[in-house]
Amino acid sequence: MSINRVKGTYDVLPQESYKWQALEDIIRKTLTLYNYKEMRTPMMEYSEVFHRQSELSDMVTKETYDFLDRGDRKLTLRPEGTAGVIRSYVENKLYASQELEKIFYIGPNFRYERPQKGRYRQFYQFGVEAIGTVNPQLDSEMIILAYDFIRRLGLKGVRVRINTLGDDASRRAYQEALESHFRPHVHTLCRDCQERIDKNPLRILDCKIDQHHVAVKKAPVPLDHLNSESKAYFDEVIKHLEAVGIVYEIAPKLVRGLDYYSHTVFEIEADIEGFGAQNVLGGGGRYQSLVKELGGPDLGGIGFACGMERLLLALEAEHIELVKEKSLDAYILVLDDSLKTFASKVLYDLRHQDLQSDINYSFKSFKGQLKHALKMEARYLVIIGQDEYQQGFVGIKDTQTEVQENIKISEITQYLKEKVGK
Ligand code: AMP
Repeated sequence: MSINRVKGTYDVLPQESYKWQALEDIIRKTLTLYNYKEMRTPMMEYSEVFHRQSELSDMVTKETYDFLDRGDRKLTLRPEGTAGVIRSYVENKLYASQELEKIFYIGPNFRYERPQKGRYRQFYQFGVEAIGTVNPQLDSEMIILAYDFIRRLGLKGVRVRINTLGDDASRRAYQEALESHFRPHVHTLCRDCQERIDKNPLRILDCKIDQHHVAVKKAPVPLDHLNSESKAYFDEVIKHLEAVGIVYEIAPKLVRGLDYYSHTVFEIEADIEGFGAQNVLGGGGRYQSLVKELGGPDLGGIGFACGMERLLLALEAEHIELVKEKSLDAYILVLDDSLKTFASKVLYDLRHQDLQSDINYSFKSFKGQLKHALKMEARYLVIIGQDEYQQGFVGIKDTQTEVQENIKISEITQYLKEKVGK
């Protein structure tokens, strides 16, 4: 019997992991520039962190991994990053020490979805949250950050789609308008949407079954139901985007898939070969009720998240290499078994001096060792042979110029450090 990976999961193999590391480096670098700090929360939470009464998105109602642990506690593997971050923000009373907490996270999420290219049951997201202050300039910072990040990856045609749901009152007015709009069509909507009409008609707008329903296409848009404060807030966000020169378009139908959003919602797109409508790389928005719902004070936040698999697929489609995998500085070839202990010492010295180096544990023959060294694209070969060793030397060969020199044993690391430029 062979044991395979769980359906909808994948392995990052050693040859591929440098791409993930390079992506994470850019994420960390960009977010640090904007003064956000990393937070790491557990992959599992008590179920109520996600299964909140007001949360009716498919992601939470149909796609979570819920289980009882051995102590009969109801736990859920996180399907998204924000709720856990807010749980921690509240539990650790981070609001007490800072007016505004600027956080980012990177980690796996779990959703029981139908697996397909770029969609997995365990997938990685990085996300950003700015919690504690409601200020349109902060909303614009979040959007600028997301836009800047995607541009830093080297992707072309980056643009923002933005909309607003307005404050609570505007959102309620909009929900009522949606409810009256959908009521006459209720019997032609899918089963779930028939319930959504009473609980949260906004969710009908992103229903996968009813997406082509004429009533969905003709549904009212939030912009028509904004009160003056909400309109002013949105205008201010836009002004800041314009000041920076962000490419944006107002997307009146954009509502985003989670139930906690209010005011600004947005998505970032880029032109990606072969992606078609899948060119949304990340999205987010402002939330007002979430901190309170998770037991904290009445404080709002804004955030966004990006799926990392999709980013890597986008880079591949656009032939963008973030970094070339760094190859070895030095590789040790041993021509006689009796010199192995000496080789261990040289290897340790090289590594101790930060030279990335290795030796062969599988092949005895010089040919086998050499082949492997070249496959590893080692820059220098340290060749340890009996005669040279007796005289206090090793051979060091530059694999690019093919020049080989005899170097004193006591000078090996110094010589290589200078050559490699460390
Ligand atoms: P969401 O949290 O649903 O707004 O999704 C944000 C981003 O996460 C999307 O744009 C996707 O790139 C990514 N994403 C969501 N679900 C999955 C999944 N099952 N597999 C891979 N990426 C996903």
